[in-house]
Amino acid sequence: MTTIEQLDKWVDGESIHTDKCVPDFSCCVKFIHTSKFDKELFRDAYAVKNWDVVNFYLGKFLADVLSGMTGQEVNIINPKAKLN
Ligand SMILES: [Zn+2]
Repeated sequence: MTTIEQLDKWVDGESIHTDKCVPDFSCCVKFIHTSKFDKELFRDAYAVKNWDVVNFYLGKFLADVLSGMTGQEVNIINPKAKLN
């Protein structure tokens, strides 16, 4: 299964773990429920190689898993973000 095929199934509600997790880890972490809207934004950004959006979402998805596991608010800092 290609990554795009995995992402298409994930958007349609089927989280399949292949050699890697789906972006929000919902294949392996059952309490994760990402909106279809966010999944579509991620898939479309990935398809056009918009890495800023992809990396934003990967940080958000990781933070959601860590928050769910620890009960603490978690924010992931983008190391490429420019400081004001
Ligand atoms: Zn997985």
